[in-house]
Amino acid sequence: MLSLTAQDVKTGVPLADKAAVIQALADWLQQDGHVAAGYGAGLLAREAQAATYLGQGIAIPHGTQESRHLIEKTGIKVMHLPDGVPWDDGEKAYLVLGIAARSDEHLDLLKQLARTLSRDGLLERVKAIREPQQVLQLLQDDSGSSVATELMLSVEQLAVKADAGSLEQLVEQAATLMSLIPSEATALQQSDAMHIGQGWWLQQTPTSEQPRVALLTAASTDIVHRQQPVNGVLALAVKGMAHKTLLNKIADWLAAGRGAELAGLNSAELLLNALQCGPAPANRHQRLAVVRNSHGLHARPGAMLVQAAKPFEADIQVCNLDGDQHWVSARSLMQVIGLGVKNGHRLLFRAEGPDAEPALNALAEAVSGGLGEELVSPEPKADTVDTREPQGIALNTRVQGVAASPGVAIGPIFVDAPAPFDYPQQAGDAEAEQQKLEGAIKQAGAELNATLRQTRDTQARDMMRMHGELLADVSLMQGVTGRIRQGLSAAAAWWSEIDAAAARQAASDDALLAERAADIRDIGRRVMAVLCHRRLPSPPTHPYLWLAQDIGPSQLVNLDTSRVLGLVTVGGGASSHSMILARALGIPALVAVDEAVMTLPSGTEAMLNGDDGTLWIAPEAAVLEQARARQQEEQERAEQDWTHRHDAAITRDGHRVAVAANLGDTARAKEVADAGAAGVGLLRTEFMFMARRSAPDLTEQLALYRQAFDALEGKPLLVRTLDVGGDKPLPYWPMPKEDNPFLGVRGIRLCMQKPDVLETQLRALLMAAGDKPLRIMFPMVADWSEWCWAKARFDIIQAEVQATNVQLGIMVEVPAVALNAAVFAEEVDFFSIGTNDLTQYTLAMDRGNGGLARLSDGLHPSVLRLIKMTVNAAHAKGKWVGVCGELGSDPQALPLLLGLGVDELSVSLKRVPFIKAQVRDWRLSRCRQLAEQALRAVDAPGVRRLVAAAQREPGTAQ
Ligand code: PEP
Ligand code: MG
Repeated sequence: MLSLTAQDVKTGVPLADKAAVIQALADWLQQDGHVAAGYGAGLLAREAQAATYLGQGIAIPHGTQESRHLIEKTGIKVMHLPDGVPWDDGEKAYLVLGIAARSDEHLDLLKQLARTLSRDGLLERVKAIREPQQVLQLLQDDSGSSVATELMLSVEQLAVKADAGSLEQLVEQAATLMSLIPSEATALQQSDAMHIGQGWWLQQTPTSEQPRVALLTAASTDIVHRQQPVNGVLALAVKGMAHKTLLNKIADWLAAGRGAELAGLNSAELLLNALQCGPAPANRHQRLAVVRNSHGLHARPGAMLVQAAKPFEADIQVCNLDGDQHWVSARSLMQVIGLGVKNGHRLLFRAEGPDAEPALNALAEAVSGGLGEELVSPEPKADTVDTREPQGIALNTRVQGVAASPGVAIGPIFVDAPAPFDYPQQAGDAEAEQQKLEGAIKQAGAELNATLRQTRDTQARDMMRMHGELLADVSLMQGVTGRIRQGLSAAAAWWSEIDAAAARQAASDDALLAERAADIRDIGRRVMAVLCHRRLPSPPTHPYLWLAQDIGPSQLVNLDTSRVLGLVTVGGGASSHSMILARALGIPALVAVDEAVMTLPSGTEAMLNGDDGTLWIAPEAAVLEQARARQQEEQERAEQDWTHRHDAAITRDGHRVAVAANLGDTARAKEVADAGAAGVGLLRTEFMFMARRSAPDLTEQLALYRQAFDALEGKPLLVRTLDVGGDKPLPYWPMPKEDNPFLGVRGIRLCMQKPDVLETQLRALLMAAGDKPLRIMFPMVADWSEWCWAKARFDIIQAEVQATNVQLGIMVEVPAVALNAAVFAEEVDFFSIGTNDLTQYTLAMDRGNGGLARLSDGLHPSVLRLIKMTVNAAHAKGKWVGVCGELGSDPQALPLLLGLGVDELSVSLKRVPFIKAQVRDWRLSRCRQLAEQALRAVDAPGVRRLVAAAQREPGTAQ
């Protein structure tokens, strides 16, 4: 950072003419090697272009763009003129700072200067300066300043929903956020915590020379300290009262009895509203603009911005989202400069008043127009920017959702937030309304059929048929007709019935059924669009990330995957039909994100990570660049892997493993060979059952399995018998509600209650197989008796059908089976380890619980031990072991699974070439060493660190 010393300041300069002062400053800068000859002309040229008088007797001449080449090194020289010199518009300058800035280094000094200028009565202090030290003091001394002394919270000093089990742990994290040195951190931790009310605590130490602050809210609601709850903590290392304003703001919330509410806010709400400027009034408007000036918002563009704000009556404020994140007046040049805005920084404007909207338009336009300078990088295209106001969501923040389809996607968002349909509530002529309704339903049905005809995907076709049936639903129609007879218009009657039906559906206890609410609204909107003569919102023509409240399956049917980069929904679940389709289409997706994302402007750049379930809104350019570079590398790698997909999966030291594909639908069996897979390693048959309105009978199943065998051309098909229950209920199999469905009647346990269902499935499989390689396995086996029961059913049917190439196995998903694997290995032909469930049952962590997602890791040493036990038991009896859970697709798990002796990995179709390529990168000998070490690790992160280190070993590991 550029610093000013006494040698850079001259006081008592007797000049009385602006041009003379400027020339003297230029000479001085030249003399000290900052600029070449001629810079004085540049300083004067700038004066002709724009005002450089800041206010309170201070001016900052600073050269033009054209004179920048004369600058050798950045520097500032300051002159104090005791009698003042007439500067701009009759103002007199007493303190003149001559700036030669080659880069942005001077911005911090300007920022400090701007803060200094906010002080009351400053002009008198400026006039009274006699010594250079007084100038330095003026810039550095915070006493008496109402702005500079205020501690401001920034994103770095904030931890929302921090993972901590005690107040002490929160304070420990606070010390890290505050970057305290060890002695300060200890002093903070040893200071007495003060309960300031409603679970808010103040922990304060006066040790730090530099004022520091951190604010943390706790994720857990169960923390107690000295018999008081702990919701949040304000940690301070500060002398004096720099924290007064911040503390007052917290006190305001507490006084209003809103302490718990404050603790529940997200970081954006805390930073931009609650603790910086109070709750946003309803008539406040906001607009975002990105600064593209090469040197940010220095004096000249800053002045242009202020000029642009002046004609409006509205109170306009601006905040640098990439800076301190505090609001300043857009009419004050010194405060605007004080924001320290650099190229690429995002300004958030807000305005209140009669002409707020036009004011914001003018300012956004001025910024995107370059504020009188040439732009250094292009602005986003006009058609990608809209004007909605982001409410409670900050930019450059990550929003956590639930991962629903893997992959990373980057691009502008399209916020699919349709304006509400406009229609009259009442209508006079019920007959005419009824006709309108029937016509609209007919037209919507015709449109649906047209889409159905163009659709190939079987699942999608089933869903569209289901939508067709919803359209023809008699009870729905009766309800609507009844409302029309009561005097409602066709649109009002239709929407109120749809809304009620969707609400009833969403309230279902059964997750799968609740997700059908999206289908109801989807079909409801189609008819509303016809009734209200409206087109449903049309997405942009360029590639985009699609954000919507809910995305109905019918909207995904004919999705243009070259344009839709990713999907984000506020509602829905990861197992909704839409998300099943997203995975099948290979589109990254998230569900259950904060509703506030719907207020973001379309066109905002975002990064969706379908693996960790996050949406990064308007990430910084550097983050995006890195992510893009990574994406590019991944794409190149994927292309290479695809080229080599038919090469065998053999380690460098010659060990071969089979890499097979996981399917949820026999229709995709035709893609298996082309993906380079050794066969199907898991066919989840329950998806075929779930996509239908009733269980497929023998004939239908026979056709489906034959389809798979035909497509596989001799490659093995491993079929898992029906695995419903738990999170996968079948709508047509009513099951009693269970308190713990994952520990209830699911998988083989359910089939034992419905033997005919299993028998039909086994018969269809064996008949379809004939002499083709068929492997059958039973899900969720926990007890020996379950295996015996299932095997007996199989034996009876096989005795009749006599398929010639069949193996029979079980899934290892319950720790009991892994622990008892030696017993099962006597009888089964193979084991397939379902690591998704094995992890959930071993760690006692619900696999669908987002709050546990971080801890619920299949690389936990305890899960690895169970895998090892299974493999050892199987190999001792000459049986083989596959892994068909998600762990098989994890590149960090791969060397360990190989090292533990797993014979087959079954992964999603899209992952097959990648996993095969990964196998070819490792040596089995190294994998075995790693596996041994991993078994001794204390936890999953420890295992991951181990593998990560091995992945970095050039030539040894890989
Ligand atoms: C598993 O549990 O790992 C598995 C493959 O089965 P599912 O994910 O279908 O429960
Ligand atoms: Mg399972």
